Amino acid sequence: MRDIPHFIDGARVLGKSGRYGDVFNPATGEVGARVALATVAEVDTAVKSAEAAFPKWAATPPIQRARVMFRFKQLVEERMDELAAIITAEHGKTIVDAKGSITRGIEVVEFACGIPHLLKGDFTESVGTNVDSWSMRQPLGVCAGITPFNFPAMVPMWMFPMAIACGNTFILKPSERDPSCGVRLAEIAKEAGLPPGVFNVVNGDKIAVDAILAHPGIQAVSFVGSTPIAEYVYHTGTAHNKRVQALGGAKNHMVVMPDADMEQATDALIGAGYGSAGERCMAISVAVAVGKAGDALMERLVPRVRALKIGPGTDPEVEMGPLVTRQHLDKVRGYVDQGVKEGATLVVDGRDFKMQGYEKGFFIGGCLFDQVTENMRIYKEEIFGPVLSVVRAPSFDAALKLVNDHEFGNGTSIFTRDGDAARTFASQCKIGMVGVNVPIPVPVAYHTFGGWKRSLFGDVNMHGPEGVRFYTKIKTVTSRWPTGIRAGAEFVIPTMR
Ligand code: NAD
Repeated sequence: MRDIPHFIDGARVLGKSGRYGDVFNPATGEVGARVALATVAEVDTAVKSAEAAFPKWAATPPIQRARVMFRFKQLVEERMDELAAIITAEHGKTIVDAKGSITRGIEVVEFACGIPHLLKGDFTESVGTNVDSWSMRQPLGVCAGITPFNFPAMVPMWMFPMAIACGNTFILKPSERDPSCGVRLAEIAKEAGLPPGVFNVVNGDKIAVDAILAHPGIQAVSFVGSTPIAEYVYHTGTAHNKRVQALGGAKNHMVVMPDADMEQATDALIGAGYGSAGERCMAISVAVAVGKAGDALMERLVPRVRALKIGPGTDPEVEMGPLVTRQHLDKVRGYVDQGVKEGATLVVDGRDFKMQGYEKGFFIGGCLFDQVTENMRIYKEEIFGPVLSVVRAPSFDAALKLVNDHEFGNGTSIFTRDGDAARTFASQCKIGMVGVNVPIPVPVAYHTFGGWKRSLFGDVNMHGPEGVRFYTKIKTVTSRWPTGIRAGAEFVIPTMR
């Protein structure tokens, strides 16, 4: 059995807790490796290493930190095939999709390469006579990232390149379902020139997460995962006086107006609903069909969902791989059962899909519901599988209300040819990331990623300029050099003259 180690102080370290998690190959259903689940003491060792590395790394000029990022980008590009294979083996998504997600991570590294410019600060000459003032951003210290299973490269890469480029040291706690990628990224970062202790990986479960949240040596925590855990991490971390950004779950609606190009809208729904088996926080899980768009869409969607090419992610012909674990497969199937019980029309039923030659894999076929309504659990809750719910809405206003009344606010999209409808939608929806004729509007790295409502706890988004804000403290210096004139002590608050 292969053991997946931690990566602490620049080296692989085998876990000593005696507690392990099974890491499956979702296509075969077999256990491919086991991951050591860290103890509180192991988290503490990583924090000590990161604390020791911090002063020197923080004092390293930003241009030198940027050069490490440039090398890291190049190495990740060179290792793309290897990293994608690791992701597919533990997550199940297709190789091409895994590569796409790594590319989105690399874009954050590219942004982080501009760190000398991003940290330049503001300067004002003569805020008073012979008095100057400037503001600068300084790193926080040790930062931590806790990440979900569905993007084992991209989500960590939203965090650590920004944190480290800003001069912090970092501890990554990857998902215990697919932890190998995080360890490999840390090794590559070391090869790129990161000193030991600047980037550590601690594998684990709730025990490691709680140890991170309570550790006095950690200044800030970035989290991405499900909403209940995001909320818990936010409250616990802030109660321990940490800066926390915690991104949660989603139920992304795509509104299809009757004037939309129905072929385009169908393509968009198939890709965004079933790509990565629906295990994306920006997946479209609800199609809101306005007026006569409903029948036009259903007519096109049904044969496409039936024709999805499902199989192991290593097969280049495959469009949709398996789900991540058997437990998750059971959960998704349970939701489909629930939708039937609640009275939604299950037009395509993928529950009994079996993949020939991979009978033990965690496969499910694409599922499509019509006539889903607001009160159903399959509408309210995140399923995180290849299950698309079509809701019929009589008007644009009714569709917008559905989007705005939902507890999640991660992403949304509208398909229309009407500029007025699109503009009103983008302006009035209570959602963090909005697409107009774009089904998965994941912002590029120099904008920022984050949802509204119960999809994000905290004030600051991931990466882009918001990443720089999150991983730095601002300091403002007001400076005057002696001129030989002594005014004596001043007892009123200084005002600039
Ligand atoms: P998850 O919440 O189960 O796990 C996320 C992380 O939290 C993991 O590292 C896990 O070890 C840890 N964790 C799990 N249970 C915990 C507990 N009880 N106490 C402390 N820590 C715990 O999420 P997941 O299943 O790995 O990922 C899927 C979820 O992530 C979905 O809800 C999806 O929408 C969300 N997600 C959101 C975004 C976003 O940007 N908003 C991006 C990707 C995924």
